[in-house]
Amino acid sequence: MHHRPFRIDLKNLPDGGKEIEGTLPASFFELDPNDTVKATGPLHYHLTVERDDDDLVVTGEMSAPFELECGRCLQRFPYLADFPDFLSDQTIEGEDSMIDLTDLVREDILVALPSYPRCEDGNVEPRQCPAEGKFDSTAEPEDDEPASTPGTAAWDALDQLKNR
Ligand SMILES: [Zn+2]
Repeated sequence: MHHRPFRIDLKNLPDGGKEIEGTLPASFFELDPNDTVKATGPLHYHLTVERDDDDLVVTGEMSAPFELECGRCLQRFPYLADFPDFLSDQTIEGEDSMIDLTDLVREDILVALPSYPRCEDGNVEPRQCPAEGKFDSTAEPEDDEPASTPGTAAWDALDQLKNR
């Protein structure tokens, strides 16, 4: 069980808000080791937590390094989830003065990761996807093309599998 800086006690929350700053290990994201998304950590955060009536408002900056898998070439590439202007809020419900923003912060970062990662969109090491354009020639097969070449036959077999 690691340190939980995102647990906020409303009773001790000053009117002007509370500043929290630090780092958390990659394990904070609790990702499945089999997931194609890997947190390579640490998460850096510098946030202000402030109460606004029935809302707890979180603003500030956060960043966390990840490793994603390119959907085209299937190679892994580094990706920095960077939030220079993070903004999120949670409705305060019930009588409990302890509010845990851990899930909120974790989910806000994870949902911001690209759903269809492409290595050429990586923001850490600029690169060209080695598979870029590889599939373009087969995207629209031409009818008059002889289907006897091994390459084409393989693609036809694949197409038949897909259409099954
Ligand atoms: Zn790629």
